[in-house]
Amino acid sequence: MGKIIAVNAGSSSLKFKIFEMPQETMVCSGIADRIGHENGIFEVKFKGQKYRITLPLLDHSAAVEVLVKSLLEQKVIDSYDEISAVGHRIVQGGKYYSSSTIMTPEVEKIIESLIPLAPLHNKPNLLGYQAFKKVLPSIKHVAVFDTAFHQTMELQDFLFPIPYEYYEKYDLRRYGFHGTSHKYLTLEAQKLFPNKKHLRIVTAHLGSGCSLAAIKDGKVVATSMGLTPLGGIMMGTRTGDIDPSVLHFAALRDKKTPEQMYEIFNKKSGLLGISGLSNDTRDLEDAHLKGHPKAMLANQLFVRRIADFIGQYFIRLGGIDVIVFSAGVGENSGFYRQLILTEIESALGLEYDRELNAKVRGVTTLVSTPNSPVAVAVIPTDEELMIVRDTHALI
Ligand code: ADP
Repeated sequence: MGKIIAVNAGSSSLKFKIFEMPQETMVCSGIADRIGHENGIFEVKFKGQKYRITLPLLDHSAAVEVLVKSLLEQKVIDSYDEISAVGHRIVQGGKYYSSSTIMTPEVEKIIESLIPLAPLHNKPNLLGYQAFKKVLPSIKHVAVFDTAFHQTMELQDFLFPIPYEYYEKYDLRRYGFHGTSHKYLTLEAQKLFPNKKHLRIVTAHLGSGCSLAAIKDGKVVATSMGLTPLGGIMMGTRTGDIDPSVLHFAALRDKKTPEQMYEIFNKKSGLLGISGLSNDTRDLEDAHLKGHPKAMLANQLFVRRIADFIGQYFIRLGGIDVIVFSAGVGENSGFYRQLILTEIESALGLEYDRELNAKVRGVTTLVSTPNSPVAVAVIPTDEELMIVRDTHALI
């Protein structure tokens, strides 16, 4: 039926993957980086080869023009007719979208109206779409929202206990993010237990951003991220949930504006803030094993917060059948999985194979033992595949 491009456009980078559909085979992947700069970088990986150039990429349109031209030059496609659609990751779909949708001028307007709820994301997501629409105007474009899968939460799960008028006036509430990943992991976890009805799943997407979701019968009942991706569990550079008075106290003491504090909470906190060393868990694992006290403390805080949420979700779901670890940390690090499992194993009575857990990297594997009352699975996530699947289904 043709090739579908999955696009993830950020403010200074645009990542893409192309899949042949309906076979779901990945054809190539790439990135346009340093958008907005004279010395932009464009890279495509195709048939085991890497093609990389440095050139001015002054805006998203320039990046997309280079991308589309290079597909012909690198013989990824023989003609533009081979591209049947483009799926765009859109971070904030607000209250409007509980599933993916075909892009229309109306949808574009709604996404634009949601920019105040996700200024760091929706604006560049939209720029990416507009650039592709200009270069490939005659094919269908689809919006795939990070928030959509979480729209099944109940009011008492997504409302913040602040005056109700903020929800009425500004739609201020918990939305939750990484929804495309949590949905993919749910479907993959269900495949591992085809005979189990009413599967209760906790999905742990642990990358540079981290979020957990509690899923019952394939639907999200709770998720950790909030109004923005700053909420929930502690992350590489983000605080996760904290007492709101921390903002007031620290801003007054340090004579900082709310914007400056927000920047600190987003970029200088989390694992980086506590360790003073790095936000990258690879560095922190090494430092931990060498006995670096602050790295060890950062890791302990990190895993305890994850364990606390798992405990919360155990109650919320009335038990847990399977915990899924995914994304950069969850897929690749036996060390972090073990730290987390150590926090929760006695309460949940779970048993897992320590040697197997230590070895697993990026491959779907059940690391729990067959008798464990709670299964533990490592499942690599694939947000781009989910984007092209939704796009394919809609066109
Ligand atoms: P993003 O969240 O940016 O989409 P990823 O899900 O790939 O990206 O997560 C990236 C993070 O995963 C890195 O910052 C690093 O902390 C962590 N990571 C990747 N590989 C490993 C590994 N082998 N061991 C521990 N942590 C890892």
